[in-house]
Amino acid sequence: MDTQTCPHRQLVLLPAQHAKVRCRHCHLTLNVGDLTTRYCPECFATHNTKRSDFEDLVTVDSGRTRYRCEACGILIESASPTPPVLHDTRQPPRRDTP
Ligand SMILES: [Zn+2]
Ligand SMILES: [Zn+2]
Repeated sequence: MDTQTCPHRQLVLLPAQHAKVRCRHCHLTLNVGDLTTRYCPECFATHNTKRSDFEDLVTVDSGRTRYRCEACGILIESASPTPPVLHDTRQPPRRDTP
């Protein structure tokens, strides 16, 4: 693995792995991010009923946050909620002389 050539500066936060729910009635699996209606779209389309009885699909909730480096495509896992190495280009102005 040649990771030393890339400083991994372009980190992109990946969505959490456990952010999925399943409808208890029709078993439709939805990403929480796609659940904008607060009710199951499948049940609404089939039965015209707004059902919001969802079951959380907790897959891998390890408390880790995942990032992907856009420059080299490597996946980085971090146990901390903050990005591991983020080089902020907007550095505060520094005075050379007081
Ligand atoms: Zn990289
Ligand atoms: Zn449903």
